Amino acid sequence: MCTVHVWEFSNIGKAPFSIKGIASLPEHSLAEHNPHAYHLAMSELPKGYGLGTCAVCGQALKNNALIIDDNGNKFSVGLDCVKKAGDKGLQEEVKLIQAEQRRTQRELDRVARVKAKEQEQRKINKGLTDEELYAKHLKSAQTLHNKSMIKFHEQSEPFITTLHKQGGFFCQGMAENLEMGIIPTLGAQLTIIDIMAKQHGRKNSKAFLEHKPTYKKQFNALVKILKKADERVLKKYPNIRL
Ligand SMILES: [Zn+2]
Repeated sequence: MCTVHVWEFSNIGKAPFSIKGIASLPEHSLAEHNPHAYHLAMSELPKGYGLGTCAVCGQALKNNALIIDDNGNKFSVGLDCVKKAGDKGLQEEVKLIQAEQRRTQRELDRVARVKAKEQEQRKINKGLTDEELYAKHLKSAQTLHNKSMIKFHEQSEPFITTLHKQGGFFCQGMAENLEMGIIPTLGAQLTIIDIMAKQHGRKNSKAFLEHKPTYKKQFNALVKILKKADERVLKKYPNIRL
């Protein structure tokens, strides 16, 4: 049995028909609000399909299925009339195109929302987004912290050298901590001070006890420098965590 396509039967064109896409006319309200955008949207519409009128039923269209027949003739059909034609292939195509258009629109909406948010942020942050502002402050805070840490690195040097010389898992770890500007726990601090004083004599000897307070003082000074460095950053950049 040979069935004739309903559009071919109505002399609209020659089967098989294929669909090139769906073109939507811009809203008339856009012409009032933003004539430039309206004319741009109009000029970007595909040509030669007789957009705006359904070739099947003659109704005015907003959404136009762009149809090409076997002879290469182009015309527009309303989505309802595509459905009514009973052409399964065309209907499937319409579904795929609409799904793709919805995906595209969602992405466009998402980008527009992000842009609008950033625009608001730039108004408040003297031209920067929140992210850019944070990055700028983070860099400044790091520079400020590094400046304060020059003194720390200078004064921690004797401790680091001795700990490296001493070797072993604990001493290596403590030396590395100090190199990174990390203060060891209180217990570890006391051990380090002992190690320093032991350079002068065995534990609790006269020489040991003589030198211990000096190292204790030096180490406390280190802790103080670090605390001050952190405080300076926190005061100037309260939102930044280094
Ligand atoms: Zn129609």
